[in-house]
Amino acid sequence: MMQRVYFDWNATAPLLPEARAAMIAALETTGNASSVHAEGRAARAIVERARAQVAALVGVEPKQVTFTSGATEANMLALTPHLETGEERAPRDRLFVSAVEHPSVICGGRFAPGASETLAVDADGIVDLAALGAALSRAQRPLVSVMLANNETGVIAPIRRVAEIVHAAGGLLHVDAAQAPGRIRCRMDELHADLMSISAHKLGGPQGVGALIRRADLHVADPLVKGGGQERGLRAGTENVAAIAGFGAAAGMAAAADATRMAALRDRLEAGILAATPEAIIVGAGAARLPNTTLVLVPGMKAETALIAFDLNGIALSSGSACSSGKVRASHVLAAMGFAPPLARAALRISLGRSSQEAEVDRFLETWKMVVRPLLSKEGRELAA
Ligand code: PMP
Repeated sequence: MMQRVYFDWNATAPLLPEARAAMIAALETTGNASSVHAEGRAARAIVERARAQVAALVGVEPKQVTFTSGATEANMLALTPHLETGEERAPRDRLFVSAVEHPSVICGGRFAPGASETLAVDADGIVDLAALGAALSRAQRPLVSVMLANNETGVIAPIRRVAEIVHAAGGLLHVDAAQAPGRIRCRMDELHADLMSISAHKLGGPQGVGALIRRADLHVADPLVKGGGQERGLRAGTENVAAIAGFGAAAGMAAAADATRMAALRDRLEAGILAATPEAIIVGAGAARLPNTTLVLVPGMKAETALIAFDLNGIALSSGSACSSGKVRASHVLAAMGFAPPLARAALRISLGRSSQEAEVDRFLETWKMVVRPLLSKEGRELAA
C-alpha cells in the first residue's frame, strides 16, 4: 500500500507516543477527580500533573490554567464582558477582533452582536495597529482578541505591541494561540496577554481538550458551563482525565520539537513549488511565520480539485482552514488580506510537523509537478500573465 504523507498538521497533529501512553495509563485509573477517596485522589493527581505541564509550557502558575474541551470553548469562555481584575470590575463594553481570527472568535463570543467589531488587517493579515488604537477610543473598557499565529497562513502577529496599545487604552487582550505551542515560543509573561487559548490536538495531544490561561488576578465572572464547580468553578463537568493527561504529556514534549529543522523542510518545499510553478504566490512570505506552514496560491488552480488530486496520490493537504474546507467558499482570512475570491479559491495549505521528513517533502514536490500544471485553467494562465 502507498505510504501516506500527512501535511495537514494545522488541522490536527498526529498523537505523540508520549501522549498516547499517558492517556492509556489514565484510562486504567478508576476515579472521579472530585472524589476524596484514594481512587479519586489518583485521578486528581493525573489532572494536576497535566495542569503543571501545561502551565510550564506557557510560563504561568498551574492555577491560571482552566481545562476546556478545546480552543473553541476556551475562546468562548474568554470572550465575555464579565472579566474582572483587581482594579476593574465593571463589564467590558466592547469586543474588538481582528478580521483573520478563527470563526470561534470572529463570531464575537458572548458579547451582544452590536457590541463586537472586526478590525482590518494589512496584506500580511496583521491587525492595523493605528486602526486598533483609533478603534479602542470608541470603548471605555475594551476587550481585544488577536491570534498569535494564523491557522491558514502561519503569519505571526506582533502580540507584544498589540498588548501595549490595548493596555494603554485600559483594555484587556485575549490571544488565541492554538497554532503556536511546539512551533514557536508561546509564554503569557513574554506576550503580555491577559487571556490565552490553546488546544491539545495541535501539539500532539488528543482532540477535544484545550485550556484557557488567565492572568493571575483576572477572574472570569461568567462561566460558560455552570454546574458542579469543577475547575475552580470556571468549567463544570467531570474532567476528561485521559484527554487531560494526554494534553499534559504533549505539552511536556513541546520544547523538544525542532523548529529549525521544520523551517528548513518548509523552505525546501517552498523553493520546490516556486521552481516548478513560478507564478505561485506564497502567502505572507515576507512576514514572520510559523516554521511549519505554507499557504500557496496558484492563479487558475481550484483548491478543491487539487486537494482531491493530492489525496488520490497519497498526500493529505487542506484548502484554507480545515473548518472551512468541504464548503466551496473563499477563506475570510484571504478576503481580509485583500485577495480577490478567484485567487482565494486557489489556496492550498501545506502544514508540516515535528516528525515530517525530507523524503516526504520530495514526494510532495514530485506530485506537485505532476498534478498542478494540468489543473491550471486558461483563465488562470491569463491572470498570471
Ligand atoms: N483557534 C485556532 C487558531 C485554530 O486553528 C483552531 C483549530 N482549527 C481553533 C481555534 C479551535 O480549536 P479546537 O479544535 O481545539 O476547538
